[in-house]
Amino acid sequence: MTHVPAAEKAQRERAEYLRSELERHNYAYYVLDAPTVPDAEYDRLFGELQALEERFPVLATLDSPTHRVGGSARGDLTSVRHAVPMLSLSNGFTDEDVTAFDRRVCDFLGVDGDVEYNAELKFDGLAINLRYEGGLLASAATRGDGATGEDVTPNARTIAAIPLRLKTAQPPAVLEVRGEVVMLHRQFAALNARQRARGDKEFVNPRNAAAGSLRQLDPRITAQRPLSFFAYGIGESSTAAPLPLTHSGLLDWYEELGLPVGQVRTVTRGAAGLLEFYHRVGAERAGLAYDIDGVVYKVNDIALQVRLGFVSRAPRFALAHKFPAQEALTTVENIEIQVGRTGAITPVAKLAPVFVGGVTVTNATLHNEDEVRRKDVRIGDTVTVRRAGDVIPEVVGVVLERRPAAAREFVMPPYCPVCGSEILRLEGEAVARCTGGLFCSAQRKQAILHYAQRRALDIEGLGEKLIDQLVDSGLVKTPADLFNLKIEQLVELDRMGEKSAQNLINEIERARTPELARFVFGLGIRHVGEATARDLAAHFGSLAALMDASEEAMLEVRDVGPVVATSIRHFFDQPHNRDVIAQLLERGVQPRTLTVIPASARPLAGKTFVLTGTLPSMARETAKALIEAAGGKVSSAVSAKTHYVVAGTEAGAKLAKAEELGIAILDQSQLEDLLGQASSGPTT
Ligand code: NAD
Repeated sequence: MTHVPAAEKAQRERAEYLRSELERHNYAYYVLDAPTVPDAEYDRLFGELQALEERFPVLATLDSPTHRVGGSARGDLTSVRHAVPMLSLSNGFTDEDVTAFDRRVCDFLGVDGDVEYNAELKFDGLAINLRYEGGLLASAATRGDGATGEDVTPNARTIAAIPLRLKTAQPPAVLEVRGEVVMLHRQFAALNARQRARGDKEFVNPRNAAAGSLRQLDPRITAQRPLSFFAYGIGESSTAAPLPLTHSGLLDWYEELGLPVGQVRTVTRGAAGLLEFYHRVGAERAGLAYDIDGVVYKVNDIALQVRLGFVSRAPRFALAHKFPAQEALTTVENIEIQVGRTGAITPVAKLAPVFVGGVTVTNATLHNEDEVRRKDVRIGDTVTVRRAGDVIPEVVGVVLERRPAAAREFVMPPYCPVCGSEILRLEGEAVARCTGGLFCSAQRKQAILHYAQRRALDIEGLGEKLIDQLVDSGLVKTPADLFNLKIEQLVELDRMGEKSAQNLINEIERARTPELARFVFGLGIRHVGEATARDLAAHFGSLAALMDASEEAMLEVRDVGPVVATSIRHFFDQPHNRDVIAQLLERGVQPRTLTVIPASARPLAGKTFVLTGTLPSMARETAKALIEAAGGKVSSAVSAKTHYVVAGTEAGAKLAKAEELGIAILDQSQLEDLLGQASSGPTT
């Protein structure tokens, strides 16, 4: 039969291809600490090669990655031969893998019934061997290829979690403690922020950051990197007292010696107990301070461990039960933009569906335009997607070697896909925004909520839930529609009685004559907070004057710089925003105009006021606005520089301080006298 050799040839070629791919990934991962594909992809290739070699043993080579541990040592670090080899672990992914492991253990030991196991976390860092002689840390080495590792003694000494001396009066002559060096999430985030600020390359994940930080030629660099350590195993030992008889006993002993041990561990029996632990840890995983990529089960009785022994690269007595991968490979089919409630534009990668972190993911955030450029993500690229816990999936990086020639760069569209308004990215800001403000339906609810809030139009009873209902039912599209609402429409809404409907209508009615400053603040112009809105109102006096002001004219307003001026100008330049404002005015909304007094003639120029207590009939914000409109300054603390303290009822320490310093104290009517002609009050 002629097709047999052809099939054999194809299998051999496939095995060779898989081996060379795995070697390449091993080098990037173990030697350079910079993998280019996610672990799940590596595990997939590894699994395929393993299956191929099992089916066709003739294909297996002695140097196959399936028989070996890790990668080779870094040539420029001193090599150390391990007294006892440092091995890997066999992997399991499914419940069946765990049952099969338990069955293998029972069969091998010839026991009938439940074997006792210690179940613990599988820390996602890098393995280290700490050699203590006479209780003192004598040397530290990485795993390397299992037989030979790298000497990282000076580096390990800089890690605070690794004790330099064991806490015991009778130290063992030799004790090799094995464990994992990891980087905590918050330490990882801080390190990457530092790398970014310096323009240095960021680490793809905490494991690689930990490995890269430990395997440094200069221990001073390691010392600057925050690393942690957890002990979980033993290498060579020579002790006067007998060693613990169980693995759980070993971990307890380590704790007494002052070595950090993972707190999440249990002693249990049979496959059922192991699976229960796996599911419990899986549920708690997102809350841990460090990455784990699974749990590890070990036969608890050390004598049984010795009987079980080892296969080529892993002990027979242990199994790493891995969690579903949080990272996977997929391709970017498109990059679209999404408009958030505040108008923020987020580029989103549309992905070929991929199963990651336990769900099928088709979208991943790219955060903002700069991130797209920094990660150089293009349409058509193969990317690593990460979904950890309930966090929104994100694109971690690109597999550059798989970039097709036709890959296309992302271009930020000039107009909002939802409302057609201009998209604007202000100088110094990472986020681009839709300038549709009041009009853009993506931002509508937020805009209405902002408009109605206490510090703006102060429409009591108009909260988030009600706004959701009003917008979802189509009754309200813009803040202007609020002023058309009828009581009959309101009573139709959920949980809205006649009385509350009437109250709301009254509140809306009251909001028809807002102070200009509150009205301007309520428009939700980016960068225009309450203080700026007050300054703008005081400076321009009327809405019409503000809407027509040039950027240069705006720059004359206190605290308004070019960024704010551009933002205001863009807002008023959007025809949609002008339409909504026109509708508001048509529907009887009349912001109360202030008469603008030339700076030279402002009666309170140069005077500092402090407001304290409650004034009989003037809100504190109003008093503040009026004082500021008249050129005065309002400060929060009384000092020798204060000219007037305006005191209402329940004025406390500030009043006492003013009396002590002999500062003039005014009540509301005295303040009004002082303001004199500064405010013209409501006009049309
Ligand atoms: P492993 O990480 O699957 O398991 C063995 C290691 O687990 C041990 O050496 C030890 O360091 C660690 N470990 C953590 N907690 C432990 C505990 N409580 N008890 C015992 N050991 C514990 O195996 P490995 O050989 O270190 O690495 C293989 C894995 O590395 C692959 O499955 C793959 O996910 C990843 N890898 C990825 C790439 C890539 O390019 N992305 C390349 C090579 C390897």
